[in-house]
Amino acid sequence: MFGRNQRDEAGYLSQRLRMVDDQLRRRDIVDAAVLAVMSAVPRHEFVPPEMIDEAYEDHPVPIGCDQTISQPYIVASMTQELGVGPESEVLEIGTGCGYQTAVLAEIVKHVYSIEIIPELLAEAEERLKRLGYANISTRLGNGALGWPEHAPYDGILAAAAAYEIPPALIEQLADNGKMVIPLVTGGGYHQDLVLITKSGGQISQQTLYGVRFVPLRSGG
Ligand code: SAH
Repeated sequence: MFGRNQRDEAGYLSQRLRMVDDQLRRRDIVDAAVLAVMSAVPRHEFVPPEMIDEAYEDHPVPIGCDQTISQPYIVASMTQELGVGPESEVLEIGTGCGYQTAVLAEIVKHVYSIEIIPELLAEAEERLKRLGYANISTRLGNGALGWPEHAPYDGILAAAAAYEIPPALIEQLADNGKMVIPLVTGGGYHQDLVLITKSGGQISQQTLYGVRFVPLRSGG
């Protein structure tokens, strides 16, 4: 007989596999590593208990402090666009609940993640430790300044929208590295997810699609 917990876990697994089929494969997520990780990471562990029934739904979910865990598709798509692998070192801006951090940590060598809200960071650190992640370093601070001690990064992923690409992040991107970041455009009413590539010291910028992220806060 299944105990209650095992039955719950089996239920979450089937919700998760349905999420991967309906929300990711049916759209444009084709990267095998991304699909495997999205099938494995227990997203329901990252949302507040009162939101657990919505963990696998096709939308962002509130995580407290006026912040949200991104929609599953957005997490998968940003990860796929970064094109990172087992040897990569990645910088994440906006740890939030730590879900995107965990997804990256399953794919890359090390994730450095910065969060500006102390309560969210403390919860995410506790959760990531409980789930056994050993290749994640986190810190409290303004992610717009990056984390120069560990630069350069093969990938940089920002989960909050900026008005311009923070110069420190461009500086800390490795040559042949990629950055995905939501940028506010059109007089403040619209955001685009942008892919930045550094190659031979040259920066190129490609607009991917319209998004809605929380704003990147300034430090202090
Ligand atoms: N990937 C996260 C997204 C959280 S929302 C998740 O799935 O949970 C974006 C996060 O960015 C919030 O937690 C917010 O507090 C944080 N944030 C906003 N401005 C920031 C800044 N300047 N530096 C670091 N984190 C920031």
